[in-house]
Amino acid sequence: MKEIGNLKLLSEKKYSRFPACRTIFIDDKTKVIIDPGADENILRNILKNNTIDIVLNTHYHFDHICNNFLFSKSKIFINEIESVCFKDRTNIPKKVGAYEVRGQQGIDDWLKYTKDPNSEQTPYSPSRNHKWVLSTQRLDGIYHNEQVFNFGSTEMKIIATPGHSAGFSCLLFPNEGAIYSGDIDLTLWGPWYHGTDSDIQDFIDSANKIAKFNVDFFITAHEIGVVTREDFRENLRDYLSIIDRRDIKILNQLENGPLTLEQIRDYGLLYGGPKFLIDPWVFNWETVGIRKHLERLEDKGKIIKENGNYYLK
Ligand SMILES: [Zn+2]
Repeated sequence: MKEIGNLKLLSEKKYSRFPACRTIFIDDKTKVIIDPGADENILRNILKNNTIDIVLNTHYHFDHICNNFLFSKSKIFINEIESVCFKDRTNIPKKVGAYEVRGQQGIDDWLKYTKDPNSEQTPYSPSRNHKWVLSTQRLDGIYHNEQVFNFGSTEMKIIATPGHSAGFSCLLFPNEGAIYSGDIDLTLWGPWYHGTDSDIQDFIDSANKIAKFNVDFFITAHEIGVVTREDFRENLRDYLSIIDRRDIKILNQLENGPLTLEQIRDYGLLYGGPKFLIDPWVFNWETVGIRKHLERLEDKGKIIKENGNYYLK
């Protein structure tokens, strides 16, 4: 277990890859779990020896909330924008892209499949996992941008970093000289902004905003884990340049003539090939992600849209 002051990082064997995530256990007077996406057994072990006062979710995505249900005696916190996901679960398929792509059917299917613990699962996403229901039953508190928590000797400040999702927040630990950058995660896969509530430019702005903090360590939610400030800033340039490369992939497809959003989507350019699109949620995310790139390319004056077809300008 890696430690930075009172922050204990609970990482997965498989580098905390999606659909798991790196959890932070703040072992202080007030005991806190941030994003319980680590292995259930690791979390149960922590629970055996500690009373956890607060569980705080940086955002509503499955990998960051999935084990909330283990903490039946803790207070569950999430940001104000995404608190609606706990109050009315239909907000989840709306935010995550299922409604945008499949309409009411996207919501109805999701409610039906997640309700049943024995639902057949989809291959590349946790879209039908029953933990969606178990872990959004209860909400005890909402946090706001810039809010400061004191857990004993550990201070934690909420930094609103929209883009990945609208309410997504990074966490600043001034005494430890660290930021939990969550899903601004520097993975080779690249930035994720494929939900209806995501925004590409906000993602870029938020990533650059946290890179300016003069902390010693950045802690990511997936894969790499703890990186120094210098490494974070350097790796961030490459990471964000993946967005431009995705633009280029789309422009290359349009070299051969105009295409509709659906035709571009079917290439699976964002997810690494059409085979991943058999998963209904990956299909949604690819559609929404391509839609966002097309809007960005239109704004940049690189393409034009006419009668549902996209042309190179
Ligand atoms: Zn996420």
